[in-house]
Amino acid sequence: MAANVSPFSAPEAYDAARVRRDFPILATQVNGHPLVYLDSAASSQRPLPVLRAVEDYETHSHANVHRGVHALSQAATSAFEGARERARRFLNARSIREIIFVRGTTEAINLVAQSYARPRFGPGDEILISALEHHANIVPWQMVCEQTGCTLKVAPINRRGELLYEEFEELLGPRTRLVAIAHVSNALGTVLPVKRIVEAAHAHGAVVLVDGAQAVPHSRVDVRALDADFYAFSGHKMYAPTGIGVLYGREELLAAMPPWQGGGEMILTVSFDRTTYNELPWKFEAGTPNISGAVGLGAAMDYLESLGVEAVAAHEARLLALATAELARIPGIELVGTAASKASVLSFTLAGVHAHDLGTILDTEGIAVRTGHHCAMPVMTFFGIPATARASFGCYNTEDDVARLVAGLGRVREVFG
Ligand code: PLP
Repeated sequence: MAANVSPFSAPEAYDAARVRRDFPILATQVNGHPLVYLDSAASSQRPLPVLRAVEDYETHSHANVHRGVHALSQAATSAFEGARERARRFLNARSIREIIFVRGTTEAINLVAQSYARPRFGPGDEILISALEHHANIVPWQMVCEQTGCTLKVAPINRRGELLYEEFEELLGPRTRLVAIAHVSNALGTVLPVKRIVEAAHAHGAVVLVDGAQAVPHSRVDVRALDADFYAFSGHKMYAPTGIGVLYGREELLAAMPPWQGGGEMILTVSFDRTTYNELPWKFEAGTPNISGAVGLGAAMDYLESLGVEAVAAHEARLLALATAELARIPGIELVGTAASKASVLSFTLAGVHAHDLGTILDTEGIAVRTGHHCAMPVMTFFGIPATARASFGCYNTEDDVARLVAGLGRVREVFG
């Protein structure tokens, strides 16, 4: 995931032009220009194999899962549970009991906050996060602190947007019950040393949740090698549909956690006196799940692995290095987030131009970037800015996209004189 790959050194074996043909939406014209999509960190586009898998499921196999003896229900159940096994292999989890389908990263983190942390933590206990977290990895812990009286600690970052690791370690102590940390920062692109963090947290007896929303599209994640207790991600950032994601949890932890939502699917027996809960993973999946989303997620995992996660990551790293070098040459551009290890995200400001105006002008040129605080307001506060513009790369971006971005920024500078 490192960005410090020379754009000129590695041979360009990766065929981005062929990859682009898998994504019909990339042929869209926006404001009279061919679309340049540089917003994959917010949500990636879906390739034909994913669109077709969802359509095929909806056309031929849809019924509710788990409850029916009829053929379609069994087809739907096998598609849904097949996707779970696919996700298990994707993460190298030990068992499908460790794979909980959720709406996305946000729901996954809230599940752990409410079912793991809330019943266990109290005054004196500490939850440790970092200063570069997405709101989804801040607010659920603040809620737990309000609910239980425990304390939120925040490990600082430096001006490059890197975690100050020594300070982080100093904040770990006998009171630390849980560490919740991004694998990759969405606002800055920083790749965090999660393996080291997991080891240090475990040495202090704390469990670790890794927010992998920005990591799974760009790196191979092996939850056994990483040894994280919980790992959360969203399908829609890795070429799958919206409304589906995964919470991986270590089985012994999940087994000891109470369900967090009640309803159908998550029970074994119900009477007015007593309800018994289903086994893992269904104990955490109350109600009818997002079946076609899970099917699409499985297809997206097949797709990403068919391209080769490492090949995609190397391609994106070349683009990031190229874009970083090009933007650094533009007068008035300030790069925000210059960590030594980065993945696929380039945040920047342009002197005298609000990020929203910059994004609006780029849009008139057909270039989609994200502008704002990127759901990471504390990061903006740290850098003393209200917002950045953020270009983010996916498997389908090209050097031409970078050239169009550079030309678009030239246009912004013309407009603002
Ligand atoms: N964590 C990170 C690092 C993210 O980038 C995002 C989304 O941008 C989330 C969490 C929340 O993901 P979702 O909105 O899919 O639940």
